[in-house]
Amino acid sequence: MITVMNQAPLKLFDTYTREIREFKPLEGNQVRVYCCGPTVYNYAHIGNLRTYLFEDQLRRVLEYNGYDVEHVMNITDVGHLTSDADTGEDKMELGAKRMGKSAWEIADEYTEAFKADLAALNIKMPSIWCKATDHIPEQIQFIEELEAKGFTYATNDGIYFDSQKLDSYGHLARLDIEGLRAGARVEPGARRFVTDFALWKFSPEGETRQMEWESPWGVGFPWLAYRECSAMSAKYLGDYFDIHCGGEDHIPIHHTNEIAQTEAARGTRLANFWMHGYFLQLDSAKMSKSTGEFLRLASLSERHIDPMVYRYFCLTAHYRTQMSFSWESLEANATALNRLYKTAFEWGKPGEVIESVKQAVLSEVNEDLNFPKALAQIWDMVRSDADPADKKATLLELDAMFGLEDWGLAASRGVCTRRCDEPWSRRARPRAKTKDYEAADRLRDEVLALGFVIEDTREGPKVVPA
Ligand code: AMP
Ligand code: ZN
Repeated sequence: MITVMNQAPLKLFDTYTREIREFKPLEGNQVRVYCCGPTVYNYAHIGNLRTYLFEDQLRRVLEYNGYDVEHVMNITDVGHLTSDADTGEDKMELGAKRMGKSAWEIADEYTEAFKADLAALNIKMPSIWCKATDHIPEQIQFIEELEAKGFTYATNDGIYFDSQKLDSYGHLARLDIEGLRAGARVEPGARRFVTDFALWKFSPEGETRQMEWESPWGVGFPWLAYRECSAMSAKYLGDYFDIHCGGEDHIPIHHTNEIAQTEAARGTRLANFWMHGYFLQLDSAKMSKSTGEFLRLASLSERHIDPMVYRYFCLTAHYRTQMSFSWESLEANATALNRLYKTAFEWGKPGEVIESVKQAVLSEVNEDLNFPKALAQIWDMVRSDADPADKKATLLELDAMFGLEDWGLAASRGVCTRRCDEPWSRRARPRAKTKDYEAADRLRDEVLALGFVIEDTREGPKVVPA
């Protein structure tokens, strides 16, 4: 555990109360966090990844404040619709058809691809991953509890949650229930009210789905991620835990319904803090997995943009503001980050942490994760005339929160890693080709003065400790 002196208290915005509140764990030093994970019928787009980066920033700040974080993330691998209105096809089965594979196979493939994206962005892996299809009995039991308490009804296509039975329904999103009621139409055989939602769907008659299970209500499948999240978060974190996260689109439906189910079944609002990351906008339109065309981390790599540049780019906007994507701003951020890596490399070995900078950065991140301002503090330090060795030590220390990684590794292990090596190797490459031996020697001397040598390897020149 890191001991931090005189630090500003950690404050976080809670969507449920619409307030920035001081954060204290519910129990001891442990913070239990649940993050809604991906629907694995396609790759994650960079918008999705912005939300996971925000959650990683949160986790790192909690850890830096000395808390132990229990971080749970689900994988939705069944029962997610192409529309939010309980209609349309199941995204998993649709994705499988598109790829000519089984729903199980594509779920595994996209889960692995998702984990690889997180790793490339230096996002800390959750302590527990939970797959919806591994928790069918828990979900059935949850629906049985809701049924026993009178919160469900059956229609011709499934078992539904009766949202009108719960007075507090819609509080998270401040839904105007009376207004909705005034405009409501009742269709025979269908759900009774517009905010009611399916918990269990019956398999269509005469059709065998790839993913279906026996249940007290007949063969079918669990429907929509909300129910899965209530059942799984309760299993791993209890009925009331510290923080629940997701993207802003989760406020009106997904998280509203998670709260409704848990309130109805267990009597709690599920989490003490509800936190939401705002969207990345591309050409002012939302990026959507279901529309097919979208930018992935791999799309950035095709343009030789390192995933870590995307991490840095996301740090430049507050998580509670929408952010516009453009190649120009990404490229400007690549230049800034490379400058930071190169400068930090040139600072050589670390000295002492500059306490005033550390406190300044901490007070920014502890004020509802204000990373853009924290980053500005870092740049102020870079430009200051403080001792370079102390600047290096301070960067290393604070990188536990920024997660830009490589200057950290470079100094702590005394090695020059890929990223700080990059600017030097790039300079070495053309010289090797043009056989400009004099320039190459000068470069070697410069690097040697910093305690490293340039080695020629099969992949090209590499900078390694002398
Ligand atoms: P999905 O896999 O579609 O359930 O989305 C995974 C996560 O990404 C959820 O937390 C969403 O709220 C979030 N998300 C979806 N689109 C965006 C976007 N354009 N920007 C930021 N987060 C997003
Ligand atoms: Zn969820």
